[in-house]
Amino acid sequence: MKNVLKIGALQIDLDAVNEDALEAHAQRLGVPPDASLNDAAGAVAKHTMTTTPAPVQGECEKCGGPLDERQERCALCGDLVPAPECTDLGNADRFVRRNLGRARYCAALGGWMIYCGPRWAADEPAAVRLAKDTARSIYGELERGAGDDPEALGKHAIKSQSAHALMAMLQLAQSE
Ligand SMILES: [Zn+2]
Repeated sequence: MKNVLKIGALQIDLDAVNEDALEAHAQRLGVPPDASLNDAAGAVAKHTMTTTPAPVQGECEKCGGPLDERQERCALCGDLVPAPECTDLGNADRFVRRNLGRARYCAALGGWMIYCGPRWAADEPAAVRLAKDTARSIYGELERGAGDDPEALGKHAIKSQSAHALMAMLQLAQSE
């Protein structure tokens, strides 16, 4: 039987959590060091669930104007944000940029947390779906004319759809 702690809509698999990370996180929230794993997980989960993502507002490098919702184009002058590099690391940047405020990695809770208002929930399959969506968005970069080497970008768009590239994207995005 799985050792699952349920708090509201959030389910924490206590066998999957990183105990050291969880205890360190809980102590930063004021939980005493001798508290049980359940109490520590509960405190971290409550904190995670009640933290609303900060609104994201990037700035245009050219005119300082606000970027659009996708962080792709300046809402004021229309200038394109430069495309990230055609590498796994570039894809991690793409993932973070597209999913700021709705996906974040929490080792203490055992993985990817996805914000589906009004709360965060551990949801690995949703994180993978966001990674697929991010990989497909590279075709959007091609259409917008982002980047200065369309051929390389086209090849990268195809390569980014492999299972290996999707996992690399998610793995490198964990530390952002
Ligand atoms: Zn601008």
